[in-house]
Amino acid sequence: MSGYDSNNIFAKILRGEIPNDTVYEDDHVLAFNDIAPQAPVHILVIPKGAYISIDDFGVNAGAEENKAIYAAIASITKDKGLSGDGFRCIANTGINGGQEVPHFHMHILGGKKIGPMVAHAA
Ligand code: 5GP
Repeated sequence: MSGYDSNNIFAKILRGEIPNDTVYEDDHVLAFNDIAPQAPVHILVIPKGAYISIDDFGVNAGAEENKAIYAAIASITKDKGLSGDGFRCIANTGINGGQEVPHFHMHILGGKKIGPMVAHAA
């Protein structure tokens, strides 16, 4: 997808310009603790490639990158002991989704019951 902003905060993290608390890394994926956690476990899982959103990623990422994101989520949630009680993954997308950082990221939230799927009814 054109229009990727290479100055977004996660691009800077990927370039090592801003520190992060890494919990997982492989050739395609970086995962780190969210700076403002909304749950006892709140981890952001991002592709190393330049994708704006989950739909950009879905259309333009390769098979290995797709596999790597889900493998990373499985590895992290197992490692953090979330598999038994469960967790939630969220990919906020665009204005209506409330996406603040325009680099595709999956939130992993766990360690307590996460609550209603949306904050309030439309
Ligand atoms: P979004 O609203 O785009 O789905 O979520 C962006 C997330 O990135 C937020 O949960 C926010 O706390 C987190 N965040 C923003 N800046 C930083 C940062 O510099 N470091 C880390 N670790 N997380 C950040």
